[in-house]
This record gives sequence, C-alpha cells and structure tokens, in this order.
Amino acid sequence: MKTLITNAWIVTMDADMRQYRHGYVLADERILKVGSMDTLPADLAYDRHLDAKDAILLPGMVNTHTHIGMIPFRSLGDDYPDRLRRFLFPLENECMDAQLAYASGKYAIAEMQLAGVTTFFDMYYFEQELARAADEMDARALVAETVIDSVTVDVEEPMGGLQYAEQFVPEWQGHDRVRASVAPHAPYTNTIEAQQQADRISERYGVPWMMHVSEMDFEMEQLRQERGQTPVEFLEEIGVLSPRLVAAHCIHLTDHDIELLSKYDVKVAHCIGANTKSAKGVARVRDLLAAGVTVGLGTDGPSSGNTLDLFTQMRLFANFHKTHLRNRSAFPAHEIVKLATIEGAKVLGMDAQIGSIETGKQADFILVETVSVNMFPIYDPYSALVYSANAGNVRDVFIGGKQVVAEKELVRHDAAGLRAELAAAMQQCGFEEKARKAMTDE
Ligand SMILES: [Zn+2]
Repeated sequence: MKTLITNAWIVTMDADMRQYRHGYVLADERILKVGSMDTLPADLAYDRHLDAKDAILLPGMVNTHTHIGMIPFRSLGDDYPDRLRRFLFPLENECMDAQLAYASGKYAIAEMQLAGVTTFFDMYYFEQELARAADEMDARALVAETVIDSVTVDVEEPMGGLQYAEQFVPEWQGHDRVRASVAPHAPYTNTIEAQQQADRISERYGVPWMMHVSEMDFEMEQLRQERGQTPVEFLEEIGVLSPRLVAAHCIHLTDHDIELLSKYDVKVAHCIGANTKSAKGVARVRDLLAAGVTVGLGTDGPSSGNTLDLFTQMRLFANFHKTHLRNRSAFPAHEIVKLATIEGAKVLGMDAQIGSIETGKQADFILVETVSVNMFPIYDPYSALVYSANAGNVRDVFIGGKQVVAEKELVRHDAAGLRAELAAAMQQCGFEEKARKAMTDE
C-alpha cells in the first residue's frame, strides 16, 4: 500500500540536514520519494493520502538502551538509596516470569510507539517472550538476553543467558524487524570468558551486543583495586572492544577510555535521565563526539528513567549538558535531534535502513502535531522538538510503512487492554501488595 503525506514540515536528518518547510513523502514499506510540495508530480499513484499541514515529519526515534520487561517496577521506591536491593531484586525474584515479562514488554512498546520511538535495543530476561511482543506490536527491535554470574528468573545456572542466547539468537535471524542478541550485564558481574563468548555470538550472527559499562562507582573502584584498570581498559585487554559493542552509560570515562572507544569504534548508549536521576553523573558526551565516537540516546528501563520517550531524554540532555559545560550554545537543538534519530540508528548498525527520511530507507517516520498550545509559534522545528514538544504531541507513527499510531491512538492494539493485561499479570503474583510492604518494612 502506498501512502502519500503532504504539506508536512519535513526534517529529513540526512547528511545535509535537508528540510522541506512544505514537503511530501511517498512510501510503501520503504520511502519512495521525498521532496518539496512544489515538486510534487501531478500523476503520482497512491492508495491513501494524509494531509500533514499542522505537523513536523521526522524519522522514527531510536531508543538505544532499555529494559522493557521492567514496567512493573516503575516509580517503586524511586528515591531510596538502597533501591536495587530493597525493591527490585527481591520482587524480580518473586514475581518475574514469562507471562509478566511479555505483558510488560507489549505495554512498554505501546508506550514507546505512542511517543514516536520506532526502534529500540532491549536487554532483560525472557527475551524470547519480548521478541514475540516486539513482533506482535510491529516494532523494529534488537532484543538481547542478559547474562550475569548468578541464577536468574529465567536460567538455572550462573551465566545461563549464554546458552539461552545460543539458541535464541539464530531463531530470529532473517526476521525483517526483530533481531535477537546477547547482553552481559556488566564487566564486573561476568567472567572474562562469558564476555568473550557474548562477543563471539555477536560476531557469528552479525548483531550488535550490549553491556552496561562504566556506570557504577563500585564498578570503577573494584576494577581499579583488582586490576588497576578502568572498565574500558579491561574490556580492551580481554579483546571484546569492537564496532559491534553498544556500551550503555559510560558515565565515568578517562581520556584514555575515550581514545579506546574511538579506536575500536565502540558505540555508546547515553542515558542522561537515568544517570542523573540516580545522581551518578553526566557522561562526557561532548568529548566522545569530538573523538569521533558514535553516541545515541537511551531511556534505560522504566524503573531507572521512568518514561520510555526520547522527548524527555532530549530535553534532559540539553539542560544537563549545557549547564555542565556552562554554555547555552553547546549542543544546539538539531544536534540533539540527530542523537535521537540517525545517530541512534548508527549505534545499532542500522543507519543504512533507518534514521533519516531518504529514498530507499525503511518507512519509519513520525508526525508531531503543532496545533497543541505548547507548539506555537515555531521558528525552528528542531528547537520545537527539543524544547517545546513532549511525547503527547506525537500524532502518527509509521514503521516499515505500516501505521502503528493514528491520531494519538494505537492502530492494531488497545492501550487500555494492554494495561489490563499487565495489571492482571502483576496481580497474579500480588505485585502491588509486595511492593507496598517493601516500602514500609524497616
Ligand atoms: Zn540499563
């Protein structure tokens, strides 16, 4: 089916940062034509037409790091210092199962799509269920099974995620939207061999892999004491730095770390919201970009960053980095929109397929309406997207030419139904009562 969208303010995010103030896009699964309205051919054939005169059209956003199975933990004990051990780990052990992960995954994907995120890179447990959720929700996704040196909710042996991944990753090879991968939790929670094996799985199947890197103070301290190294130096020594590695967070980097990330073309998933909510720090993104490192934006999981939309991340990115650098001109809005779109696509190694509005690419794009009170006036669309817009302004979302959000509603799914399904799965384990008890326990 061919869709023609007319009169949109198009920000293509292509290499020349082309814009069409009054533009059109013709697409089936791929983008067939894009241009200015005054060049619209009179004899164009299409099946449906959408007038977008009150909207900005941009590429679907790319969330480079999240944990979609963790919706049940959102807003639980947010401000407690010992949150992970007090709330998350015990409740996860007691309640997380395939059904809850799957219901959470679908809900999280709905939330992302309603906010204009069309592609995401996930790491959690029960990734087979989450891959199925992504497939059913028409999402574009990389979903990676977590590997950690303990028994988990879905494997019975420490590092059992590796065997899980050995089966799971090849099963999703060849799917047009969903690919499977592997994600060691962090350098300090895995053996050297496990990290090397994850790298080999990634190489064998040609998919990026992910790991939390240089995120925690104790991670830095432990490696310094045990090996006299930073996490990045350690990863170089064990031979796993490569363009296929997506390193999430990278908050605590030395100059030497940045040189190494650049040398090996490692990709960075920057999660400003989660990093600053937990008071961990502001990553050296300006220095990373200056060194030629590819950086995308991530929300982290819903328990860490609370929302799964990149509008929040773009705004937090602007505010924190400008303040940190004491420079309001640092990171102008168009650079931040790049991080949320084409640079995110590069982080996932998918920039040949997605991330910009260009002929031949997948038809993954979103329309952000400009009729709401917060969206007037607009002098510069990037400025409007970063500083004025919020996820609630996303009106229409297309993935591979298929419309998944129309007029701010899911097309093939029902948000209230997904919420009821998730609530029922939580109820089955008494999730809320357990959560409330943990909050009052001394
Ligand atoms: Zn994370």
